[in-house]
Amino acid sequence: MRQKLFIPGPTEVVDDVLGAMASPMIGHRSTAYANLQQSCETKLKKLLNTTGRVFLFTSSSTGVMEGAIRNCVARRALNTLNGEFSRRWHEIAKSCGVEADTLEVEPGQAITPELVDAALAEGARRGQPYDALCLTYNETSTGILSPVPEIAKLVRASYPEVLILVDAVSCMAGVEIATDAWGLDVCLAGVQKCFALPPGLTVASVSARALERARTIPYRGYYFDFVEMEKFAARNNTPATPSISHLYALDRQMDRMFAEGLANRYARHLAMAEHCRAWGRRRFALYGDERYLSPTVTHITNTRGFDFGALNKELGKRGATVSDGYGPFKGKTFRIGHMGDLTLADCEWLTAQIDDILGLK
Ligand SMILES: *Cc1c(COP(=O)(O)O)cnc(C)c1O
Repeated sequence: MRQKLFIPGPTEVVDDVLGAMASPMIGHRSTAYANLQQSCETKLKKLLNTTGRVFLFTSSSTGVMEGAIRNCVARRALNTLNGEFSRRWHEIAKSCGVEADTLEVEPGQAITPELVDAALAEGARRGQPYDALCLTYNETSTGILSPVPEIAKLVRASYPEVLILVDAVSCMAGVEIATDAWGLDVCLAGVQKCFALPPGLTVASVSARALERARTIPYRGYYFDFVEMEKFAARNNTPATPSISHLYALDRQMDRMFAEGLANRYARHLAMAEHCRAWGRRRFALYGDERYLSPTVTHITNTRGFDFGALNKELGKRGATVSDGYGPFKGKTFRIGHMGDLTLADCEWLTAQIDDILGLK
């Protein structure tokens, strides 16, 4: 039975897009391919409100998180931590051997401009100024959307040396991102979340500032080298063979997004979130700071102590699946992903099923 995936990725892929994924193969040095890449990049620039470069990486998001570190940190990175995915980015920085400190808040809290300002200022005061800031826009493990526009504004105004690297994996194409207006340097997302495509491709805007930085770093690694990517992107190519099938699917899906209208798409995500939040508050309790709740994933405390595995098994028979708490939250909370091409009606159906299974009213 086909499952409706109410999980924070991968999300359900519509048949039309799966069909595009099955397009006949072409050579990646052909004109047809270059046209396809150019079409995808043009559409992504519109989505991300940028006139800068958007790269297409054949990798899951984690690879490009590593690439951003290797290409953009010359001196020292500040990793902001408010959950498991932002923690992962710090682990990546350490494993790449770059200097990296953390600014950590409790899970369920957001990273704020005030905290970032204090941490960046402290680095400079210590004589160890940062040159890159890692932000997890939507911390999927806790369902918290940090105020990236406000943080970016502060950084661009007061810390011109600091590149702003954003993991927007679980919110890009679900919330508006104004790359150029906010002054983001790298903003990356795998396409298996709000884009509603199969996993395996990651898109990332990369600013001229970020490329300039990359050129000063001698050992950027090979596969995710932004400078090489830029050389090839200038002719609508990638250095290594890309997942061409994904590009067909992305190109089709972006057309579907524009047909819906981006504003409508973002409003639909918010409407789904509002339904899930209201239900979560009524039946359980929401986890985290109410001022920063995510529009794409709702994190609910299991105040009733129900058996999550049993619930998901029963839901599975009815054609849906939801997510357990992530990492330390396993069994204590659960998460409803409402992203991609899901609708408000889907969410209403889901919560009615959970009510029925758990006997809630
Ligand atoms: C899913 C997710 C990732 C990891 O993505 P992969 O595509 O599995 O590498 C990273 N960051 C956030 C915020 C995510 O939601």
